[in-house]
Amino acid sequence: MKNSLSLGRVAGIQIFVHWTFLILIGWIVYINLKQGMSAIDILWSVLFILTLFACVTFHELGHALAAKRYHIITRNITLLPIGGLAQLESIPEKPKEELVVAFAGPLVNIIIAAVLFVIIQPNPEMIQSMDLSKLSHHNFLLSLMVVNIWLAVFNLIPAFPMDGGRVFRALLSFKFERHVATRIAASVGQLVAIAFIFIGFFYNPFLVFIGIFIFLGAQAEAQFAEAKSLLKGFTVADAMMREFPTLKPTDTIDHSSDLLLASQNRNFIVVDESGVAGTLSRDEIIKALREGKGSHPVSDAMSREFLKLESSHSLEETWTKMQTTRKTAAPVFSGTELVGMMDTENVAEFLMISEARKK
Ligand SMILES: [Zn+2]
Repeated sequence: MKNSLSLGRVAGIQIFVHWTFLILIGWIVYINLKQGMSAIDILWSVLFILTLFACVTFHELGHALAAKRYHIITRNITLLPIGGLAQLESIPEKPKEELVVAFAGPLVNIIIAAVLFVIIQPNPEMIQSMDLSKLSHHNFLLSLMVVNIWLAVFNLIPAFPMDGGRVFRALLSFKFERHVATRIAASVGQLVAIAFIFIGFFYNPFLVFIGIFIFLGAQAEAQFAEAKSLLKGFTVADAMMREFPTLKPTDTIDHSSDLLLASQNRNFIVVDESGVAGTLSRDEIIKALREGKGSHPVSDAMSREFLKLESSHSLEETWTKMQTTRKTAAPVFSGTELVGMMDTENVAEFLMISEARKK
């Protein structure tokens, strides 16, 4: 991920921390200073946040390692000020697998809390006198336990994009078809979101924020599932473009921008004697022009890492792969022969046509 610092690898998964994380630390120090806290108190707060984010990392690793059991690769884990994000290559479709992968994250927090509970053996008095704004060695582990319980509960809210939304859909999927299960889970999620926004207006503005986040997440998930159900049963060959422009690596960027204007195409396949050398998108052309590279060859601007699609493969899986790898275009092969091209625009058209036909 861009603007992120690598912290190293755990079980083959790269862990990144986004630079905005520094803002969070800076903000905590600033707030604490403003409240006139001593250096040692501030140190405890910062240490607490770092430990908390270690727990968030373990939570994400829980998802990643559970996914690994089902041969799903996690590209990386990024820590953002709002939490962690594990980028899985795909989301498991079988209800049992989705259930296990989604639940694995919150389960890690429950385990951490349970271990801390055994270590500190808290009594009710201890919990009552807990003060999160004044951390010290007296209440550090207790606070960590409480926050882990809170993380598990929060993540299990039955609404997308929370883990609980996925757990809920997986449970529904045992009974309903996947896109129906998604629609039900998304609707329930949106009701929860509206309740959050409503309650938030009276009690806590932070809830309004979370509510909006959940509402949009549920909507995106429902649309994604709906689109996937429309693509079901088709192959790449059904939707691909059979006529598409190609470029040579030695063609100039200026030439590619002429083609961009002269045709409907936004993406080009770059082909040399030995086959496909890369793909070139409109954004890449514009970027190269901005950098004054008009007279440079397209090989300077193209992406060499592209997806190789197979014309007989399932359209649904291929589209999901394009979405998760964020590729806007890819060449399509039949065996070793280049037979077509797919881009997001052309899948969008296919979706519109399928939807119209269905009605
Ligand atoms: Zn999670």
